Amino acid sequence: MGSAWWRFLVAGAALSAGILVLPIALPRNALIVATGVAAVALMVLGVRANGVRDRLPWYLLAAGVACWSAGDALWTLLADVLGVEPFPSVADAAYLVAYPLLAAGLHRLARGRLRTADRTAVLDSLIVATAVGLVLWVAFIAPSWTDAEGSVLARLVGVAYPVADLALVTQLVHLSAAQRSRTPALRLVAGAFVVVFVADMFFQAAAYIPAVEARVAWLDPLWMGAYLLWGAAALHPSVREVGESDLAPTEGLTPRRVTFLALAVSVLPTLVLVEATLGLRIHNMEVTFASLPLIGLVVLRMLGLVRRMREQSDRLAHLADTDFLTGLENTRRMTVRVDDLLVPAADGSVRGGALLLVAIERFTEINDTLGLRTGDLLLRAVGARLVAATPDGTVARLGGESFGVLLPGPTSSDHATERAAEIRAAFAEPFLLPELTVTVDVAVGVALAPADATTASDLLQRADVALSAARESRDLVARYAGQMRTGGPSAPQLMSELVAALHADEVVVHYQPQVELETGRVVGVEALVRWEHPVHGLLGPLAFVPAAERTGLIRQLTLHVLDRSLAQAARWRASGRTIPVSVNLSVRNLLDPHFVDDVRDALERHRIPATQLELEITETMAMLDPHRSVEVLGALDDLGVLLSVDDYGTGYSSLAYLQRLPVRRLKIDRSFVDGVVRDAASAAIVRSTIELARHLGLTVVAEGVEDDATLLALLEMRCLAAQGYGLGRPVPAERIPDMIDEIEARVPEVVGLRVPLPRGA
Ligand code: C2E
Ligand code: MG
Ligand code: MG
Repeated sequence: MGSAWWRFLVAGAALSAGILVLPIALPRNALIVATGVAAVALMVLGVRANGVRDRLPWYLLAAGVACWSAGDALWTLLADVLGVEPFPSVADAAYLVAYPLLAAGLHRLARGRLRTADRTAVLDSLIVATAVGLVLWVAFIAPSWTDAEGSVLARLVGVAYPVADLALVTQLVHLSAAQRSRTPALRLVAGAFVVVFVADMFFQAAAYIPAVEARVAWLDPLWMGAYLLWGAAALHPSVREVGESDLAPTEGLTPRRVTFLALAVSVLPTLVLVEATLGLRIHNMEVTFASLPLIGLVVLRMLGLVRRMREQSDRLAHLADTDFLTGLENTRRMTVRVDDLLVPAADGSVRGGALLLVAIERFTEINDTLGLRTGDLLLRAVGARLVAATPDGTVARLGGESFGVLLPGPTSSDHATERAAEIRAAFAEPFLLPELTVTVDVAVGVALAPADATTASDLLQRADVALSAARESRDLVARYAGQMRTGGPSAPQLMSELVAALHADEVVVHYQPQVELETGRVVGVEALVRWEHPVHGLLGPLAFVPAAERTGLIRQLTLHVLDRSLAQAARWRASGRTIPVSVNLSVRNLLDPHFVDDVRDALERHRIPATQLELEITETMAMLDPHRSVEVLGALDDLGVLLSVDDYGTGYSSLAYLQRLPVRRLKIDRSFVDGVVRDAASAAIVRSTIELARHLGLTVVAEGVEDDATLLALLEMRCLAAQGYGLGRPVPAERIPDMIDEIEARVPEVVGLRVPLPRGA
C-alpha cells in the first residue's frame, strides 16, 4: 500500500496527458469514464485496506465521485453515441447530485472524531465563502440568471453549478482549517477539489468567452486529474489520520491563516479595482452587500480570539500562582497575600496575620527510601490535610517539604502557637497511601505580622528561622523570637563548596565520650562532623548534613568521617588506648550497594577490628525501606560492626520491630533523657525502654545527659552508658585523652564508687 498511491498517480498523470492526443470522441471520453470508475473503486477499497476507522465520509466522497462519473458516462452516451448535446441534460442531473454528496463527505471529514464544529474553522470558511461567493455572483451566477436566451430550467441549472462550487470551496476551507496536521492524503483530497473547482470555472467561463469555449476540451486532463487525486488519496497510508485528530481544534491564528483570510477579504476592493481599470460596470451594490456579512464574520472571529487570549492569560496567571504538584498556592501567591495583609488602612492600621511554616520531618529519607512517586503522593496528602485543618486560613506549598499556612487578621502569639499545635495534632493519624501507610511528623515555625515583620519576605524569613528552632525543640513548635539565630550560609552555597572542603580537610571530626555508668569508664567516642569553614567559622552538622543528604554528597561525607575516625582510632591504639568509635550514617548509605565494601576497606586500611566500630542509624531510616536496609545491615553485622539505633523514641518504630533488625544498641534520644529527673512521663518511658531493651538483649545508651542528677537516675534505671554535655562535650581528637582522664577521675565518685577503678581493672 506504501507506494501504490504514487504509482497510480504517475501512471494516471501520463495517461491523462496522453488523452490530449486522442480525438474528442468516444475513446477519449470512455477513458475518462473508466478513470472515474477506477477512482470510485480505489476509494472504497483504499480506505478499507488502510484501516480507516470512520469510513462514512469517504463513502460519501466515493458516492459523489461515482455520480460525477455517471454524469461523464451519460454525457458520452449523449454526445458520442447519440450525437446530441442538450443543455440541461440527464448528465447535469448526475453532476449536480455529486456536489452535495462531495460537500457532505468533506463536512464529515472536517468534523472528524471531534464531532463538534470547530467554531473558528466555520468562521474562516464563511469568510472565504463570502469573498468567493461575490466573485462567483458577479462572474457567473448573475449573468446565468439574467441570460435572456435560456429557459428557466437552463438558467436554474446554470446557476446551480457556481452555487455548488461555492459549497465545495466552503467545505474545503472548513476541512483544511479544522485539521491540525496536513497529511499527504489530506493534501491529495484538497488538490482534487481545487482541480475540480478550477476546471469548473473555466468550463463556466466558456459560456461567455469564445476563446475558452474553443479550447474546452483541454480541460479533460483536469477532470481526469481530479479522479486520480481522489483515488491516490484513498490509497495513501496517511488517509487513516485524516479526520482522526483528537486534539482540541486550534483557535489561534497562524501567520498562514492570517494571510489567507487577508487575501480573501481583499477580494472585495480588488474586484472594484479590476472592474474600474478594465472599464467594466462596477458592482458597487454587490460589494457593499458582501462587506456587511464579512465585517460581521471578522468581528466574530476577533471576539473569539480575544476571548481565547483572555482565557489563556487567566490560565497563565493561575499557573503562575499555583504549585504544580499539590495544586495549592505557591510562594509567589502567598507573598502577595501577606503583602495585602500588610497594606495600611486609611487610619494607618494594618490587618496583619500569622504565618505558620510547616515542614515535614525527615522527608528526604521518606523520598529516598519510598521513592519520588510516594513522596509526591505524600506531599499532596499533607497539603490536603493542612487545608482541612485550617479552614480559616490559606495553605500554600512553599517548596520542598515546607508549606505555609496564613491566618489572616490579628492573632496573638499564644493563639498562633495553639493553632500550630493543632496542626501538629492533625498529623497523628497516619496517611493511607496506595499500598502503604506512612506516619509523618511536622515541625511548625510561627511568625506574626506586623509584630515580627512588616514585609512579606521578612515574614517568610522569620517564619523560617522559627521553623529551624522548632525542629530542634521538643514539641516541634516555635514562635519567632528576635534573638533566634538567623540564616547562616545557604545550603546550596555550602553544597557547592563541600567537595572542595573535603579535599582541603576543612571537614573535621569532633569526638564525644560515651561513659559506662556503673564503672565511670569511657567505653567509646561518637564521631560528630564539623566544618571549619574559612568564612562562616565552625559549622555544626545541621548546617550541611541535611543538604548533603538531599544532594547525594552524603556518601562522600560519610566515608570521609569514617576514614578520619578510623585513622584517629588507629592513632589512639598506637598510643596505647583502645577507644571504639561510633559513626553516624545517613539513609543513603543503607541504600548504597557499595557501602559494606567501603566499610570493610576502611577497617582494613586502618587495621581496626570491626568490633571497635559502631555505626548509628536512626530508626526511621531502618524502617522506611526494611527490605533493602535489612540486607545492608545484615552484611554490616556479619562484618562484626556494632549497629545501634540513634535518637530512639523520636520515630515510630516499636522495639518488637527493631528486634528483627540486627541492631544491638539503642541510643535514647535526649528529648526523653532530658526529663528523667523532672518529668514522670519521660522517666517512665526511659525506664520501660531500658527494661524492654534488656529483655531483648539490647544495650542502652542515654544521649544528652547534662547533669549528675540525670546520670544517677539513669544508673538507677540500669542504663548501660551515657553521653552528654554533663560528661563531656564533643571536642577535637587531641583533647580526648585528657578528657577521658578527667571523666574517669570524676564520674566513679559521682556514681558512688569511692575509689576510681584502676585502669585495666
Ligand atoms: P546525634 O547523632 O544524636 O548526635 C548527638 C548530638 O547531640 C550532637 O550534636 C551532640 O553535640 C549533641 N549533644 C550531645 N550531648 C548533648 C547534651 O548534653 N545536650 C545537648 N543539647 N546536646 C548534646 P551535633 O554534633 O550537632 O550533631 C547533630 C546530629 O547531626 C547528630 O545527632 C547526628 O544525627 C548528625 N551527625 C553528626 N555527625 C554526622 C555525620 O558524620 N554523619 C551524619 N550522617 N550525621 C551526623
Ligand atoms: Mg549519633
Ligand atoms: Mg542522637
